[in-house]
Order: sequence, then structure tokens, then C-alpha cells
Amino acid sequence: MTKDIVVLGAGMVGVCTALALLQRGHAVVLVDRREPGRETSYGNAGIIQREAVQPYAFPREWAAVLRVVARQGNDVHYHPGALASLLPPLARYWRESAPDRYAGTIAAYSALIRHCLTEHERLIALAGAEDLVRKSGWLQGYRSAAAFDDAARAATEVGQQHGLDYRILDRAGITATDPAWCGPLAGAIHWRDPWTIADPGELVSRYATLYSQAGGIVRRGDAMTLRQAGSGWTVTTDEGPVNAAHAVVTLGPWASALIRPLGYRFPLFVKRGYHRHYAVESMPSLPLLDVENGFLLAPMKRGLRLTTGAEFAHHDAAPTPVQLRNAERHARELVRMGAPVEDTPWLGARPCVADMRPIVGQAPRHPGLWFNFGHGHQGFTLGPVTARLLAELMDGEQPWVDASPYDPVRFG
Ligand SMILES: Cc1cc2nc3c(=O)[nH]c(=O)nc-3n(C[C@H](O)[C@H](O)[C@H](O)COP(=O)(O)OP(=O)(O)OC[C@H]3O[C@@H](n4cnc5c(N)ncnc54)[C@H](O)[C@@H]3O)c2cc1C
Repeated sequence: MTKDIVVLGAGMVGVCTALALLQRGHAVVLVDRREPGRETSYGNAGIIQREAVQPYAFPREWAAVLRVVARQGNDVHYHPGALASLLPPLARYWRESAPDRYAGTIAAYSALIRHCLTEHERLIALAGAEDLVRKSGWLQGYRSAAAFDDAARAATEVGQQHGLDYRILDRAGITATDPAWCGPLAGAIHWRDPWTIADPGELVSRYATLYSQAGGIVRRGDAMTLRQAGSGWTVTTDEGPVNAAHAVVTLGPWASALIRPLGYRFPLFVKRGYHRHYAVESMPSLPLLDVENGFLLAPMKRGLRLTTGAEFAHHDAAPTPVQLRNAERHARELVRMGAPVEDTPWLGARPCVADMRPIVGQAPRHPGLWFNFGHGHQGFTLGPVTARLLAELMDGEQPWVDASPYDPVRFG
């Protein structure tokens, strides 16, 4: 039966959700205050991370925690003033990262990640977006031989357990694989399954065009105007109110602003991240993560995109791009980088959940309200996967992936 559905938020997750519902014959309106794909889904590293079967856990060794607290290392930065409000979700994040609980999360997470390439592949073909895609993986690089040896052992274990395609490359192997990378690298793991996208925001735009061409409606509006109206929902847009029997929240890092007033106090937080593009003489073909210095360099249409690790801060606090400045210095040791393309760095926020699983399913206390957010470090990867999962749930079908690990009821 056709349903009227309004989808709130047009990032990778919202666009894929609107498309999946439309393709099932529903009448869908996608609402955003901006063009589709202009926020977090625009600024990421553009990797469809088939290898990411283990979400980022909170470090459990005290040495690693103290290193972060002392602000040694460039992978994590924090605003001391934000810690008091971040403490409850971070304490839960720490608990959920205990080995027994984390093992359950890996099992659930890997069951979603397994489908990321096939779900994107279908949409990329329909959207005619093959020109944005490179299917040759990415490099996880190490400067010290000891760190590289540990990583090679870990990659072998996870790679064999999850059937991933990877190669362990020494220094010569890196150069043979991508001659653009030079400098002080001891070795790298080459994850060969993942796909990389030359312009992540453009891929979301192409999916949004596919949605519009198939009859989907896009409206500019503020999701915060969402109200219950009779047995359904209404939201105000530039072209008047949109009424629908069902509303889906796909607001990524802004989801908590909408759902908290409705009484949902989920353990959500953001890990902010920066990017900046640089001119290069010779563009690498594969992205490279400098693990020890906490940044990634990805070849993109606009230049070589440098993305940073996690910054724990209030979502709307002023930018403090210290990680980016440190990363730029180290990046120049790895590749001949010219001037930055933009005057100021881009800032975005990964929408994180303390148990490292996205929240996908029906709102526990509001009929007709559905959630699909909290994809953390892998929302660009998982957009089409959780979109399909949510669409199957909304249609009352047995989903093709067990949906229980993502059910909002786990937080009451
Ligand atoms: C530096 C960095 C690198 C990353 N690299 C990768 C990667 O390589 N691979 C990967 O899979 N993931 C990566 N991620 C994570 C990924 O980008 C996110 O998980 C993903 O983009 C989240 O998508 P989303 O659709 O949930 O949120 P968003 O893309 O942020 O979309 C939310 C939408 O809601 C809209 N919105 C907000 N408030 C309102 C309102 N009041 N009214 C109307 N609309 C509103 C916004 O305009 C936006 O369009 C990275 C993230 C960062 C920060």
C-alpha cells in the first residue's frame, strides 16, 4: 500500500532512504534546508569502506586514554569546555567498547558493511555515476616498523576472518602500487575491496537527481518545524506545509536536536573533522591514511583532500583546526603538496552513537515516526544499506539483515 512519507535531511543517508522508499512505490517528499549532500556527506574522505567491519572503539588501554587526555598525538583533539556534557555518552562509549560487548557490535556491524558495495553499485549504475568511482582500494600507512608489524598481524586476522582482499606492502611495494607516495613510510596495508569517490557531495547529488527523475519531491524547509498532526506529521517548507502519515529522521549530526524535545535521550555525540584541498604536481591514485599522525589524504576532483581525525567538541563550537595544521606539516613529508585550494578549512561532524551502531527503525513512542541516523565514521558507506533496511521495516517485511542490533528500543 502506498504511504505518504516525509524524509527529513538530505545527506547520503536521507537521499538513499527517500530513494529506497520511492522505488517501493511510496509518495516521498525529501526536506532539507540546503541542497542535497552539502553537509557531512559532502566533506568526508569519500571511501566506501568495505573493509570497515570493526567500527572505531574507545581505547581500553589506559596508556592510550592518557595519551589523548594529554593531547599527545594528532588523531584526537578535544575542547576541555565540552567534556562535562560529553562525559555521559563517552562513558557509555567506553563501556560498549569492552571486549565482550564490542565483539557483538562487530558481528552486527560487519553484517551491514558486507552489503555496502553491492548496494552502492546498483545506485551508481542507475545514477550514471561511474565516472566518480575508482575501484582500487586505499592504503593504511605506517611510519614505524613496529607499528607496521602490529598492523600487518591485525589486518591478516581481520582480513581472513571477514574474507577481505588485502595486501601487506613494504616500502617498495607502496611505491610500486602508487608511485606518487614517497617519504618516510615503513609499510602499508592495501585494502583492495573499497571504492573511492572523487567528489562525495557530487555522488549524493547524482543519487538525488535519480530520485527526482523517478518522481521524488525535494523541498527546502526546516526539520525543526516537524509536528504531529492528527494521526500523521507535518513540516513547514518554503512551498507550504507537507503532511504525511510517516516521517523519517535522517538528520545525521542534527538528529538529536529534533528528537530530544520528543523525549528521546539517546547517547549521541559528534566527532568533528576538518578537510582542506591542496594542489599537487602528481595526484596519487589511492588515498593514504597516515595512522601515526592521524590524517588521511584522498585524491579528489578539487585537489588532494586532507581529512583529520576526531575532535570532541560541541557540534556548533567555533572551528579549531589544530589537527589540520599539524597534519599539513606531516603530509608534506609524504607527497609534494602545493598551496591550499580554499582560504579556510571545511568543518563537519560525524554523527556517533555510544554503541557504535546506527539507529534504524521505528520511534518507540511516536507512531509513524522513524529513525535512520548515527552512522559515525561510515555513513557515506552505509547510506544505501540502512536505507534498504529501513524501507523493508517500514513495509513490514522481514529485513534481509537482522535489524534488531539497530532498533531504537535498545535505548528506551
Ligand atoms: C572528516 C570526515 C571524513 C569521513 N570519511 C568518511 C569515509 O571515507 N567514508 C564513510 O563512509 N564515512 C565517512 N565519514 C562519515 C560520513 O561523512 C557521515 O557518517 C555521513 O556523511 C553522515 O551522513 P548523514 O546523511 O547521516 O548526515 P549529513 O550528510 O550531515 O546529512 C544531514 C542533512 O540534514 C540536514 N539538516 C540538518 N538540520 C536540518 C534542519 N533543521 N532542517 C532541514 N535539514 C537539516 C543537513 O543540511 C544535511 O543535508 C567522514 C566524516 C568526516 C567528518
